[in-house]
Amino acid sequence: MESTERPIQGAPRRRTRSEGQPRQARRYLVNIDSNATAQIYTDCVVVGAGVGGLRAAIEAAAHRAVILVCKGTLEDSNTWNAQGGIASVLREPDSFEAHIADTLSAGCGLCDPSVTDLVVRQGPSLVRELVAWGAEFDRVEDRLDVTLEGGHTYPRIAHAHGDRTGTFIAQALIQRVKDTPNVQVVEHFFAIDLLTDAEGRCVGVIGLDRQRGLQIIWAGHTILATGGAGQLYRETTNPDVATGDGLAMAYRAGALLRDLEFVQFHPTTLYVAGASRALITEALRGEGALLVDAKGRRFMPDYHPSAELAPRDVVSRAILAQMRKTESTHVYLDIRHLDKAHVARRFPLISELCEGFDIDVSRDLIPVRPSAHYMVGGVKTDGSARTTIPGLYACGEAASTGLHGANRLGSNSLLEGLVFGKIAGGVIAQAGAGDPGSMRHPLIRHRIAQSGRTRLDTADVRNALRSLMWRNVGITRQGRRLREAIEIIGFWQRYVMDKVFDDPEGWECQNMLTVAMLMARAAHQRRESRGVHFRSDFPQTDDVHFKRRIEITL
Ligand SMILES: Cc1cc2nc3c(=O)[nH]c(=O)nc-3n(C[C@H](O)[C@H](O)[C@H](O)COP(=O)(O)OP(=O)(O)OC[C@H]3O[C@@H](n4cnc5c(N)ncnc54)[C@H](O)[C@@H]3O)c2cc1C
Repeated sequence: MESTERPIQGAPRRRTRSEGQPRQARRYLVNIDSNATAQIYTDCVVVGAGVGGLRAAIEAAAHRAVILVCKGTLEDSNTWNAQGGIASVLREPDSFEAHIADTLSAGCGLCDPSVTDLVVRQGPSLVRELVAWGAEFDRVEDRLDVTLEGGHTYPRIAHAHGDRTGTFIAQALIQRVKDTPNVQVVEHFFAIDLLTDAEGRCVGVIGLDRQRGLQIIWAGHTILATGGAGQLYRETTNPDVATGDGLAMAYRAGALLRDLEFVQFHPTTLYVAGASRALITEALRGEGALLVDAKGRRFMPDYHPSAELAPRDVVSRAILAQMRKTESTHVYLDIRHLDKAHVARRFPLISELCEGFDIDVSRDLIPVRPSAHYMVGGVKTDGSARTTIPGLYACGEAASTGLHGANRLGSNSLLEGLVFGKIAGGVIAQAGAGDPGSMRHPLIRHRIAQSGRTRLDTADVRNALRSLMWRNVGITRQGRRLREAIEIIGFWQRYVMDKVFDDPEGWECQNMLTVAMLMARAAHQRRESRGVHFRSDFPQTDDVHFKRRIEITL
């Protein structure tokens, strides 16, 4: 197959003129000659080693040869950093119906009820499977301990080693992967693009292997499990790897993306100037932590009847409003009234973190402010984790399964990653025999004309983009500022998208610009407020025009 440059029509459907002129899109970010590139073959390639990718690899490996790639080490993922826990119905009086109702309520009318039903009902068995695979969840006597979080009617958050849940889930899954002979793990492999044949079927990936250089992995089935895009924002809880690569790759390959305007901001991340924005888990508020402003006044009861346990978007906006009122850069969490020994046992990570900044949580207030946390939208999938591109599956934060609607209920994402990872892997394991040795693969040649335009410093663009997204496409949005963001991102795109880079830094910048533009356009198009998307110029929910999803494709 010979690829050529194609014009983008890449805006959300029904875009307006003010959203900018059509731009030249590039099908691939790099020059490709598949005859002259190192290549390997497999039944299934999984891109990403968080909860979704790991679980998918284990399942697919039951009947298929699997290559699992990740751009850093196996520990570099959102999953590894997850704190609070995983939601699932484990104890009475909780019920599937209650968990489903809470998820639908958080999703503000946009959840897919059949997907919600599916995910919630699989929760308990998948959590118990993790226990059987060695994940050391906390227990009370002989039962798993569960705690309460905002938006949940009953205690249903299982946690491991206090607030180190993600690390212990990841460790158990990684060990399982290592014990599975059919899975080959390749760390430090940066996936640049999904490869498609003349019929538009996904046939693998091209990427940069730190040891072997540019490499093609031809695969009968490809699973995208690249996680979120928190790094698009100046303030974020996400690690460096979360640059939205999978979303940009899928978009270039022609997949349908949706719900990109819905970004969840976590209300409470540690605010110490110069330090990274470490998350202070919601479970702390579940255990009684209070939010107070710069004057020491508790303010959440002014904003919502559930006070500190209100949904995340409500708490985030309330914190911003209170910061404005008190002309302060942050607010505080107060846990001085909680038992110090219990806090240290239940939240060892947070206790350590605070100690590192000389904050004695039994005496001092903890300075916090909101940060970008979770990408609700993603690559559209069906109940079998299939995207709109044949041969391409997605799971985890990169996917839009329909579980979250317009807002994610806390602790539902690890669960979603497990459920759809298992589904994606299972579908592939059961699929027709894809003998990789005999798989016919296309010839792919893609040459990019050299651009005469000035070269911008991508590190500078990246920093400026993250500030712009925080200011203009952040917790509170407004039409004029979204239009401004679209124009500025469009300007950077003209100077960055026309270049050919040969390192992850450049490709990440191109991916971030691509995803940022799609997010800003979707946010501009949704002229209402719903879930995590709040428009100060359209503060009401508009069910007549917007009880629908905004879908985006090339
Ligand atoms: C601080 C923090 C706390 C959280 N706490 C909770 C919680 O308590 N409960 C809960 O349910 N959720 C929580 N979440 C959210 C949850 O952790 C994530 O949504 C979930 O782990 C995502 O899993 P994933 O498999 O989709 O992706 P990730 O775990 O993010 O993994 C993504 C993988 O993709 C790889 N990758 C990305 N791009 C490329 C590329 N170009 N080439 C190759 N590989 C690539 C990365 O290297 C990584 O291996 C938290 C998130 C954060 C950041």
